[in-house]
Amino acid sequence: MIITEGIVLKERFSGEHDKFIDILTKDRGIIEICVKGARKINGKSGSSAQLFAYSKFCIDLRKNMYFLNSAEPIHIFYGLRNSLAALSLASYFSDILRYCIQEKSDGENIIRLFLNTLHFLEKGLRSEKQLKAIFELRLMSETGFMPDVLVCRKCGTFEPQELYFNVPDGSFVCKDCFSGEYNNFFSVKLPVLSAVRHIVLTDFDRLFNFRVSEETLEILSEFAEAYIQAHTERSFNTLDFYKSLKGK
Ligand SMILES: [Zn+2]
Repeated sequence: MIITEGIVLKERFSGEHDKFIDILTKDRGIIEICVKGARKINGKSGSSAQLFAYSKFCIDLRKNMYFLNSAEPIHIFYGLRNSLAALSLASYFSDILRYCIQEKSDGENIIRLFLNTLHFLEKGLRSEKQLKAIFELRLMSETGFMPDVLVCRKCGTFEPQELYFNVPDGSFVCKDCFSGEYNNFFSVKLPVLSAVRHIVLTDFDRLFNFRVSEETLEILSEFAEAYIQAHTERSFNTLDFYKSLKGK
């Protein structure tokens, strides 16, 4: 028997009784578990295996498939269900994770990022726009695609007042050095660069602790989405749905 902690990213019902859940674990990346008789399980094991439940799972491995033996809830993000927008945003995060995370990847930081983001989302402690930008940029960094945000690629300036991000690799050149060499670029001011640096470089304890103006947040959020799209090279229905709710 395998014991692991994880959070349910997706559930799919199968036939009349069973379901499959994808869970993001600390130690095995994302795994798919078959929950036999899911529609009849009540109590702890039932609630522990529903969408966005963070639980301790006891799993059996048979014929290369995982089967749920039992589960104990650690935290269930019930609060997300009070807001369709928050639930949709969490579903978009799940989709990106299911797309980006390999079974063998180290899930410790990634699960921490996801749990913390859901916590702030559930409690409404940060704006959705800020949480989305944090999640997108930090996830890319944790999965090996950290933008190269240290200095201007050409002159080494650390704090240019105006600069141009090259979206595909997240590097930048300052305004003085820019000569139109990028196809997919964002023109931004220093506060956006500072926010991106904070998100990708700071310790987890301080990750969510920054404030920016509405204008900076708007551009930060557009950049974060463009950056993740450049890397995943696909669209997500959950993101389209979320944006439709927001009237975009
Ligand atoms: Zn420069």
